[in-house]
Amino acid sequence: MTDFAATKALFHLPEGMIYLDGNSLGPLPLAAAERVRGVIADEWGEMLITGWNKAGWMEQPTRVGDRIGRLIGAEPGHVVMGDTLSIKVYQALASALEMRPERRVILSDSGNFPSDLYMAEGLIATLGRGLELRVVAPEDVAAHITDEVAVTLLTEVDYRTGRKHDMADLTARAHAAGALTIWDLAHSAGALPVDLAGCGADFAVGCTYKYINGGPGAPAFIYVAPRHADAARPALSGWLGHEAPFAFDTAYRPGTGVERMRVGTPPVLALAALEAALDIWDMTTMQDVRESSIALSERFLKGVEASCPMLTLASPRDAAQRGSQVSFRFENGYAAIQALIARGVIGDFRAPDIMRFGFTPLFIDETDVGSAINIIADVMNNQRWDKPEFKTRARVT
Ligand SMILES: *Cc1c(COP(=O)(O)O)cnc(C)c1O
Repeated sequence: MTDFAATKALFHLPEGMIYLDGNSLGPLPLAAAERVRGVIADEWGEMLITGWNKAGWMEQPTRVGDRIGRLIGAEPGHVVMGDTLSIKVYQALASALEMRPERRVILSDSGNFPSDLYMAEGLIATLGRGLELRVVAPEDVAAHITDEVAVTLLTEVDYRTGRKHDMADLTARAHAAGALTIWDLAHSAGALPVDLAGCGADFAVGCTYKYINGGPGAPAFIYVAPRHADAARPALSGWLGHEAPFAFDTAYRPGTGVERMRVGTPPVLALAALEAALDIWDMTTMQDVRESSIALSERFLKGVEASCPMLTLASPRDAAQRGSQVSFRFENGYAAIQALIARGVIGDFRAPDIMRFGFTPLFIDETDVGSAINIIADVMNNQRWDKPEFKTRARVT
């Protein structure tokens, strides 16, 4: 079993704070500050342009991609880092749609994160070939996988409710119907075991600033299944996805395998912070993380339900159907979350009425969960949220 007390000691966690928002932005790994300082001083400072060769900056996106790949069950050499998740959704969708030219439907669900849906809308307008984005309720996805569907664009774990799709089952259904699958792992990578290779997923994308703790704006990743890697045409054909960037040809030729999904210059400093965060992942397994996450979430769910009758559970009750978060509905959820933050319990609010709490065993333990339950019970039962200062909405909720 993983020594989670040892992993917790590797993060900077502000005094008096119980951070139940690692599903939105992971905390600072102590080594990240050190690592970035080192890259700035020793590599950027001393090596300057020679750092691309001497410090291995050019290989960083695939080197880090392989480390992410280990957390999501990808075959080595089939994950690459760069850009933001929204961009990676666009790339995966553009490539997948081109592989099903005779089909017109992109199937997604109403629990998907809006940016994924917006990127699909934008791409549909750009392509102008009469594609349709079909958005159904999460529980109706399976029934809507028909031979009209070109691609399923699904986020495995719903960002609001934590409801988890059955990736193996939906992938098999999509393939049986002749469709391709894109899995968004934003709330899966670092949250629960994922088996991309075992499920036969076609494309996957995700971010690294949530459960993986890579820091605000940390680069995203994309996976392309080995059987598609040399066939998928990259829509964003930047020079670093070219077969030979330093040949400076005027014509584009896609690079080998997933490297073709690189676009431009990698974010070297951000990737350095992410590499430091990944060192902590070497101390555990996704099985251990999942086991502990379920224990912590179950304790939280039961404790909060028992003490706060005004809150309605928005997450699946069965832990096997949930990601690594627990959400409750409450009419004054925004004010309640602000009141909790003022008391040092950090969760977040998602419109219209969701109070969301993430469970991240690398730095949250049973004691934290016990204290959080007590504070939530006090804030809710004594209506401590009912104050004007907790009701003014900030830009980020
Ligand atoms: C967090 C999240 C995003 C955010 O995309 P960025 O481009 O990184 O801002 C997109 N999709 C899902 C499913 C998310 O959870």
